[in-house]
Amino acid sequence: MKKGIFLDRDGVINEVLSHRVKFVNKPQEFHLLNGVGEAIRLLNEKELPVFVVTNQGGVGLGYMKEIALDAIHKKMEQDLARFGAKLDDIAYCPHKPKAGCRCRKPEAQMLIDLAEKHDISLPDSIMVGDREPDIAAGKKAGCKTVFIGNPEDNPGVDVVFPDLLLAVPWMLFQ
Ligand SMILES: [Mg+2]
Ligand SMILES: [Zn+2]
Repeated sequence: MKKGIFLDRDGVINEVLSHRVKFVNKPQEFHLLNGVGEAIRLLNEKELPVFVVTNQGGVGLGYMKEIALDAIHKKMEQDLARFGAKLDDIAYCPHKPKAGCRCRKPEAQMLIDLAEKHDISLPDSIMVGDREPDIAAGKKAGCKTVFIGNPEDNPGVDVVFPDLLLAVPWMLFQ
């Protein structure tokens, strides 16, 4: 069983609530954050599986069709490919925020399912997020947790970094 890296999408991989996009409901609203392509390529080079686990309640709420989400994820993979970076798998929860499903973070089911599918050891793995439900899901799955953001907002994580690229040396060392 291997160590894996689980990444939240919005706010970790791509911009949200930035000067040019609020939420990502179409491919042209998807913009990689600085350093993310390099960060994922470095993880790839160390042969660490990289997964995306993302809550996409906009699907359940009707703001976005699943086919648009697929197109957004295709754009994500194309943008990453320009940096020589690739994802091993993408899991998303399409349910309404209050549907009470088992997959929406802070629940851990997306991580558990990916771990089973890809033979990943959750206690050796790391969940990276920019919001509290990401961290709660990571902890519930038994992973180490990384918060991307301001140290003052730290929701009881193992470590805080301002962006994904700066978190890579720590993640490699774990
Ligand atoms: Mg986020
Ligand atoms: Zn769900």
